Amino acid sequence: MRRKVVAGNWKMNKDLSGTIELISAIKNELSKSETSTEVIVCPPFTSLESASTLLKGSSINLGAQNMHYEDSGAFTGEISAKMLKSVGCQYVILGHSERRTLFGESDEMINKKIKKAVSTGLKPIFCVGETLEERESGSTEKVVETQIRNGLSGLNETELSELIIAYEPVWAIGTGKTATPQQAQDVHQFIRNLISELFSNNFAEKLVVQYGGSVKPDNAADLFSQPDIDGGLIGGASLKADAFLAIVNS
Ligand code: PEP
Repeated sequence: MRRKVVAGNWKMNKDLSGTIELISAIKNELSKSETSTEVIVCPPFTSLESASTLLKGSSINLGAQNMHYEDSGAFTGEISAKMLKSVGCQYVILGHSERRTLFGESDEMINKKIKKAVSTGLKPIFCVGETLEERESGSTEKVVETQIRNGLSGLNETELSELIIAYEPVWAIGTGKTATPQQAQDVHQFIRNLISELFSNNFAEKLVVQYGGSVKPDNAADLFSQPDIDGGLIGGASLKADAFLAIVNS
């Protein structure tokens, strides 16, 4: 049995007081739950240190939403892997579709970021997924395969032992349109087969592959019951403790 992991991507939401409020509420809700699902929260950079302090002693892990691939230097506005480690992050989301489309991140940049994350001891949540146009033209598998081959290029199983892949169809992110459980399962199975081909069957069988894209309390159980879906990366619904915990409990 693979472990299940649910991560909340808060995006550019919640200032410091909002972070304190939401984390306190999530901790409170989680204390009432008997779930064995691993829970991760990914607040904005400005809240990470406070979030880390608040999460001490709890089972909830902390992630960032992005990072730069260099350690330090003249990269105005950027944050390094080492900086994230220093404030207590265990995870980092890399290659989110909003980073790819709004901030021009290429597969090559994402590959450099994954390399830096793992060499710094951060666990990457590596996002892949096709646009609506790509799905409608029948190129979903080709797109996802290219993103994975390029993103993980030059990395081996040992370096990727803590990798999580998040399959997030771009057309389902923040749109209210969710992939059907079967649509998502088909791509998850494709991803696991590809990982088996690129690395090993054993590695592929252990890899956590999350689904992301308009996951809500009322569709989470159907998605998460698919054999190759190991939890979710949650955007909008991670901003309310009760909705997020309902998803975790699914
Ligand atoms: C996301 O941004 O990773 C995401 C899945 O967003 P939403 O749940 O809002 O679609």
